Amino acid sequence: MALSSQVEGVVRGWCPDAWRPMMAGDGLLVRVKPHLGRVSVAQAIGLCEAALTYGNGLLDLTRRANFQLRGVDHLQWPALLERLQALDLVDDDAEREGRRNLLVAPEWQTDDDTVRIASELYGRLHDLPRLPGKIGFVIDAGPAPALICEPGDFRIERACSGRLMLRADGRSEGVELTDGTEVDALLALARWFVDSGGLQARRMARHSAALPDWAIGDVRSAQPLRSMLPGERTGGTAYGLPFGRVEASTLMNVMERPGVTGLRLTPWRVILVEGAAGIDIPGLSTDPAEPLLRVDACPGKPACSQASVVTRELARRIAPLVRGRLHVSGCAKGCASSQPADVMLTGRDGRYDLAFNARADAEPLFRGMDSADIPGRLGAF
Ligand code: SF4
Repeated sequence: MALSSQVEGVVRGWCPDAWRPMMAGDGLLVRVKPHLGRVSVAQAIGLCEAALTYGNGLLDLTRRANFQLRGVDHLQWPALLERLQALDLVDDDAEREGRRNLLVAPEWQTDDDTVRIASELYGRLHDLPRLPGKIGFVIDAGPAPALICEPGDFRIERACSGRLMLRADGRSEGVELTDGTEVDALLALARWFVDSGGLQARRMARHSAALPDWAIGDVRSAQPLRSMLPGERTGGTAYGLPFGRVEASTLMNVMERPGVTGLRLTPWRVILVEGAAGIDIPGLSTDPAEPLLRVDACPGKPACSQASVVTRELARRIAPLVRGRLHVSGCAKGCASSQPADVMLTGRDGRYDLAFNARADAEPLFRGMDSADIPGRLGAF
């Protein structure tokens, strides 16, 4: 397998997957996109074994409800890919895998609209035009929208009327759809995006062209649900992952417990362990008030070559001192969150800049601080 050309062909800003991993400071980053955001017990155990064998022994949960393995040696990538394919976690077709960017409402039921639409879209991925790598679809067709605040370019949502609607990201309203036409509408919107020059804008929210008449409507999404918090849920227990990360060995132990039937991934740094009741998982939390669950922090130094500072160690020390959201970013790119944080620490030239109610690339209030100086500056918040 021509792995070197695959890896060398990768550029920054690429949306990596298992066929096209991204080179990071700590080795290859391989993203795994489970069908419907769920893994069975066997798949979860296999994935944990793969992270322990080929990666750094950790699994990162992404904002699109995928898992990432990090620290993969490029010489071992083909064996990892083969393992993931055997687990049915990666499509055998690299092209289809690249297009398989669906975020689904995590608490779907086997026979509901989310499953029906997502399953049809999985089967029609080859009908899509070639789209920018970061483009994604959101299938949010439960009784009420669960993913309103999550990014995704072409969206199916529950409307106020109770029907399903199509909405282009960046537009506050959409059009109601007739049952069974949802995937046709998504494909048509994707084709329109390309034909109307969307490839230059790269994302739907940035594409300012007027929508076609058939996609313009005045229908609003229904009142959204709150995002899933850690704690007991119907059918299982939701666990918060500090920094969106879990040790593979820990997760493997959980998946081997009697009664556990699978794992649902969410975009909220929360996993839902199906069938789990009263299981304590070391390092994970079922307490919605846990300070670390209010923290965003990218891997930082040394994992990312663009980082000049450590991030997560500092975030652990600072989190109990911060009332609202804390974001510690290794550089101004702010990969961990694009939203303003109450306390924003951004690495620059080996030191930290501090801003309040700001994004990672904001003008700081205090510049060039040592980590020891930061607690004293939080009083200004
Ligand atoms: S924000 Fe963090 S992960 Fe993203 S490029 Fe900067 S240092 Fe790397």
